[in-house]
Parts: sequence; C-alpha cells; structure tokens
Amino acid sequence: MTASLPHPSAWPDSAEAFDYVVVGGGTAGCALAARLSEDGRRSVILLEAGGDRHSLAVSVPAAFGRTWHDRRFNWAFRTEPEETTGNRAIAVPRGRSLGGSTLINGMIWVRGQPQDFDGWAQAGARGWSFADVLPYFRRIEAYSGGETELRGRDGPVTVVDVPLRHEIPDAFLRAAEQAGYPRNPDYNGREQEGFSYYQANQRRGRRWSAFHAYLKPALGRSNLCVRTDAQAVGIEIRDGRAAAVRYLAGGVENRVAARAEIVLAAGAIQTPHLLELSGIGRPEVLQAAGIQPVLAAPGVGRNYQDHFATRMNWRVTRPITLNEMTRGRHLLRALAQYALSGSGVLAYGTGIAGGFVRTRPGLETPDIQYFFVHASYANAADRVLDRAPGMTIGVTQLRPGSRGTIHVASPDPLVPPAIRPNFLSDPADGECLAEGMRIARRIMAQPAMDPYRAHEMNPGEGVQSDAEWLDYSRRTGQTIYHPVGTCRMGEDPEAVVDSALRLRELRGLRIADASVMPRIVSANTQAAVFMIAEKAADLIRRDHA
Ligand SMILES: Cc1cc2nc3c(=O)[nH]c(=O)nc-3n(C[C@H](O)[C@H](O)[C@H](O)COP(=O)(O)OP(=O)(O)OC[C@H]3O[C@@H](n4cnc5c(N)ncnc54)[C@H](O)[C@@H]3O)c2cc1C
Repeated sequence: MTASLPHPSAWPDSAEAFDYVVVGGGTAGCALAARLSEDGRRSVILLEAGGDRHSLAVSVPAAFGRTWHDRRFNWAFRTEPEETTGNRAIAVPRGRSLGGSTLINGMIWVRGQPQDFDGWAQAGARGWSFADVLPYFRRIEAYSGGETELRGRDGPVTVVDVPLRHEIPDAFLRAAEQAGYPRNPDYNGREQEGFSYYQANQRRGRRWSAFHAYLKPALGRSNLCVRTDAQAVGIEIRDGRAAAVRYLAGGVENRVAARAEIVLAAGAIQTPHLLELSGIGRPEVLQAAGIQPVLAAPGVGRNYQDHFATRMNWRVTRPITLNEMTRGRHLLRALAQYALSGSGVLAYGTGIAGGFVRTRPGLETPDIQYFFVHASYANAADRVLDRAPGMTIGVTQLRPGSRGTIHVASPDPLVPPAIRPNFLSDPADGECLAEGMRIARRIMAQPAMDPYRAHEMNPGEGVQSDAEWLDYSRRTGQTIYHPVGTCRMGEDPEAVVDSALRLRELRGLRIADASVMPRIVSANTQAAVFMIAEKAADLIRRDHA
C-alpha cells in the first residue's frame, strides 16, 4: 500500500481533538501516555503504527531471535551499503507494536556513566546532568537488589540481576579477574567498571516491556485513547504552531488535533523521518527527496550515532552450551521447566555476563563493553545457533566518534528512510575496537577458560595487526541496535530541540525518545530512553499545569 501526503493547505479543518497527541507507542511513548494521563485531568491519544498483538516470541526471552524477520514486531530496516563497512546493507531492527523496541530487545539494563549526562549538560542540555536525571532513573525501576541512594525500588520497570548461573559464564568472570579486571556487583551503582552477570528488565522469567510496565496498567483510563495500526504520516502546522497529526489507518487518512501539544516518540529512525515528511528539516535534503520545505530545521536526521560491535567466538570442548541445550530432548526439558517455574535456559536473553573496561590507562571511564554468552552463531544477521558447542564475546566501543545520517528518501511515507551510520569513519573508533578485541582475547587465554576453550573460530589467531583487526571489523561488524541523536537536544543553532525538548522553531511540538540524546550513552540505550520519557512528562505537565 502506498500513499503520498497532500500539502498542508489541502488538509480539512475538522478533526477529533485531544490535549496531547503522542506519536509512537514504543519505549518512550508507553511511558509518556501513562504519565500524561495519570492525573485524569488531560486527554491523551497514543498513535502506534504497529498492532497490539503479543506472542510467545516476544515474552519468552530466549525466543528473541524469532522476532528478527517478523514484520508484526519489527520494522526490519537496513542501512545503505557503505564503504566503511564493506558495502554491506546492515540490519537495523526496530520494534513495532505497543512496547516498541522493548518488545524485541535484549533486555539488558544499563543506565550509562554519570559523566555521559554531565557531558550532555556541558554541551548545552540544561537540566540533564547526572544529578538532574538520577531521580528519574530511580523512579523508573523496581530493582531486585534493593533500594539505595542510587537505585529505585517502587518503579514500574522490574529490573533483576539475571538469576541464571552457568559454569562457562562463571569461568569467564574468573578469567577477567585473572586478567586484572575486577568483579563489580552493580555496574548501575557507583562505578560502571568491572565484570558481572547482567541486570535485565524481566519479571518471573518473562520480558517486562514498556507496554507491561507502563501502558497496560493505564489502559482502563477514560482519558487515554490508544489507537494501533495508525501510522502518522505528517504534522500539520497552523499559525506557527504544530496543530494536528495526520495518520493512516486501514489505508484511510485521518487527522487528530492537539489542544496542548504533539509529542513525537517514534524513535531515532522514524521521528526525524516524520519531521522530514512534514517538510521540517534541512531544505536541500527535503528538496532532493521531492518534499516542499515548510520549516528549516538543519539538525534533523544528522548526528546519527550507534554502537557498532564485533563478535569473537570460540569452539567449546564439551556439549554444555546453549547451542545444544536449546535443541531436541534438552529443549523439551527446558520447555517443561520454563512452563512450570519461568526459569531455565529459555529465560536467558542475549547477553548473560559482561563487563566494562578502559582500553588505555589515561581514560577516566570505560570505553569498551563486552557481552558474553555460552552460545555461538556463524552469522550475526541470522542468529542461527551452531550445532557444535561454542561461546561468543560481543565487543562494542561505548563512545564512537563516527557520525551518520538518516533522511527521507521519498515523499511516500511508506518508503523507508535512507540510513547511513558511517560506522568506523573516525579512525579512533577502529583503534579502540581493535584494543577491545585484543583484551577479550587475553581474557579468554586465562587459566579459568582452559577447561572450555577448544580454539578461537573468529576472527582466528591469524588476526594480529591493527590493519587485520580493522579489516575484520569492517567485514563483519554489526550495529547492536542503539541508534540515537538524530533530533539532538541543545541550545546551539543545529540542535533540533531545546533543553525542554521543544522543537526550537515551532510551538506545540516536543520530541521525547532516543533521537534527542546529544551524545550516545556509554550503555545499552533503553534505560536512558525511559529516563527521557519520565523527565519529558514532568516538563510537559509543568508547562500546562
Ligand atoms: C534488537 C534490539 C535489541 C536491543 N537490545 C537492547 C538491550 O538489551 N538493552 C537496552 O538497553 N537497549 C536495547 N536496545 C535499544 C533500545 O531498545 C532502544 O534504544 C529503545 O527501546 C528505543 O526507544 P524509543 O522510544 O526511542 O523507540 P521505540 O521503542 O523503537 O519506539 C518507537 C515506536 O514508534 C512507532 N512508530 C514509528 N513510526 C511511527 C509512525 N509514523 N506513527 C506511529 N507510530 C510509529 C514504532 O512502531 C514503535 O512502536 C535494543 C534494540 C533493538 C531493536
């Protein structure tokens, strides 16, 4: 189905109206809709392009890979082929349906380093220093490790220390210690540095998504309307104000007006895409795509940042890895255990254990993150587990210097945007990643891994020099699905939103999702997105008190 957008002057006057129109029922959108409707005084409509369907593939953590090609839950975008990554079109999965990317993500819970948020504030995002955002991080979570001055206990998102233990990840943590990297019981506490099992947003062995945490408990409210299969295709501007959203539902165009504000929460790919479809963006980019500029906003779609990762894997000496434990009779036993107690291998997410290290002595904080799992697959894009036993370390650079773009490719809102991450274009990124992989190899060479390590499969011992590591990264690296920054917050002319998340050139429009991050956090990104949504809800309510 295709549809192109009529010029705003052709749009009809009549529309249903709500105080707040929230576009995108994902991570931030579910939190926003719940918070903005909770006092019962304002009406809220949430528009979600995907459905309200759920499935075992979503709720059972180990079924994560099943949503990979399922268009009900995944937009399944791809990058444009780029020279810096061997001209491959790299998969960019994005969640679709109520809950957004928290329906298909790895559930790893990492807030980031205090210095990330202090850096945002220093770059012009007033009110977003770590001291400013810590109360929101605490408000979000119900952490199984208990309440402290840094951790929350009563929030909607259940966060647990991954309860599962296995001898291979145990050995990996001991190997890290043998290589000189400390154990850290809570990387979301005072210090990020060190190794541990991960924390995850799960409850009783099930995924605990933004839908479960925020939206589901709010669904009975009479002032909250949730409309699914409703894809926003344009923002209507009247008298210098964002007045209404046009959306497609069942192939028909509809329009909903906002009495107070429109809040975009369509994520770092689709929020800038929607702005550009509406004629808001860099004029030359819009014209090149055949779209008439309505409002110049030069930063839209720029400052694209993401975590690029390589994977190293080893053959394991014995059949005790997830490669075998999720097949045949083992799978039957695992299914029974999961059905009875919500535990066992099916409750495993993507990364089980991991760590944060500094690749150089002079660094103030870690610049590399590891994801360890006692499983292996030949192709990160397909994630089909090997038949023989294996283990994998994912290596990612936490604060890349490379910057890319995401821009509209056609006036047809159903044509995907052009995504150009420009990975590894900054030479320092390749160097950091190479050092991160060398450290990973050193850890795996420690005595604790002797009973398990058969041989290194990828990249293989032959890869030693900087040039070889870089070549391996360019040929095989993937995103770990953290695009951010494409509608950056700040107070400079290229910032898209100000520190209160208001579009700088237009009244009545705010953005609250991963796209507003000025700089990517040194972490998986969902916790920071929940924080952005919680703070945005406060900012909006304050302005309309
Ligand atoms: C495969 C995968 C694994 C990940 N693993 C982790 C992890 O383990 N830990 C972690 O912290 N982070 C992880 N992330 C990243 C994290 O999930 C995201 O950063 C975060 O969820 C993004 O939140 P968001 O609100 O910005 O966007 P989303 O949650 O993606 O929400 C956007 C919503 O808007 C909807 N939408 C889009 N366009 C329109 C439109 N035009 N009209 C109406 N609705 C629209 C979408 O369907 C979607 O529901 C992962 C992400 C993916 C995809």
